[in-house]
Amino acid sequence: MIFTLLRRANVFSPEPLGVVDVLVASGAIAAIGSKLDPAALPEGALVVDLQGATVIPGLIDPHVHVTGGGGEAGMKTRVPSVALTTLAKAGVTTCVGVLGTDSVSRSVESLVAQTLGLREEGLSAYCYTGSYEVPPPTVTGSVRKDICFIDPVLGVGELAISDHRSSQPTFDELVRIAADCHVAGMMSNKAGVVHLHLGDGPRGLALVRRALDETELPASVFYPTHVNRKRRLFDEALEIAARGCTVDVTAFPVEEGEDAFDAADAIERYLDRGAPRDRITISSDGGGCLPTFDAEGRLVKMGIGAPSSLIETLATLLARGRPMHDVLPAFTANTARTLRLPAKGRIAPFADADLVVLDETHRIRDVMAKGRFLVRDGAPVVRGTFETTETT
Ligand code: ZN
Repeated sequence: MIFTLLRRANVFSPEPLGVVDVLVASGAIAAIGSKLDPAALPEGALVVDLQGATVIPGLIDPHVHVTGGGGEAGMKTRVPSVALTTLAKAGVTTCVGVLGTDSVSRSVESLVAQTLGLREEGLSAYCYTGSYEVPPPTVTGSVRKDICFIDPVLGVGELAISDHRSSQPTFDELVRIAADCHVAGMMSNKAGVVHLHLGDGPRGLALVRRALDETELPASVFYPTHVNRKRRLFDEALEIAARGCTVDVTAFPVEEGEDAFDAADAIERYLDRGAPRDRITISSDGGGCLPTFDAEGRLVKMGIGAPSSLIETLATLLARGRPMHDVLPAFTANTARTLRLPAKGRIAPFADADLVVLDETHRIRDVMAKGRFLVRDGAPVVRGTFETTETT
């Protein structure tokens, strides 16, 4: 068994635990105490004195285009895959991979493979089956079988609605897919969610509202994302959060005067409105292209989502005076609960040892994933298989 003792860590579990010692054994948190005795550890144990530095759970990014997304403005706009260090340096120790618009040149098989590769490299990685498209592309030919029999698959996503790039799914098509997710989730003890990509369209969350009104499906099956891309859409998201859905905001750049909320504004607004505190999460859309379209649906600008936008959003919220324990759950514990990952998103005995150490300005200093340091003093100490020192 490999032991690491982190001494004098100012832990937010997300709840503030004060300055404590954290003992890590073989990838999991074995004990948390006010003074754990290093002399009691076997020889070879690593002891790190954090001198009161802030320690938070590893961030969970529930929406990453790990294979690279894009492809919406010609084949040259297919985004490259996301490297291990891009996630690790951003403090992301758990990610959920998604396909996007492009399920023609990319497949669920390649997404599952990329996800398993990240696991081999030391991250905790999961993915969705499907894509924007309806019916969802799958590995086995069945949404239910993909969720039940393919270990990393947690549900269907990102399925597009209210977007010109969607398959224009009907109500019946959407609730059939949600039903498959729900039942397969029950059978496999997985989240079984349908992760909905929301576009700019005026229909917004109308299909989800109708599903809540007219079907027996629990609200927790619907997990919409990009809900901060339009202000009106965000108000709709608050409504369905009150009805039991978890809603996900995207940490994309928002320009002055744009009809959108940036992720920090959205989280503050959500909390200030008294919406259920455990039903908001944040994701980066990392590896995805962030296109801007004109009124005719023509692409006018292209950016790429970065996993580092999560920690930047957290730092912004803290700089505005928000208490850590208030905002941290959206990046950690809430996401773990929504995705039904009980060993993730918190610092507690028996949880996985996924930890981020922050410096005084809330920048990332060290990152531990399943008990192994991937980043020390802001620099990666473990690299992905094809990453060289020059490229990272
Ligand atoms: Zn999307």
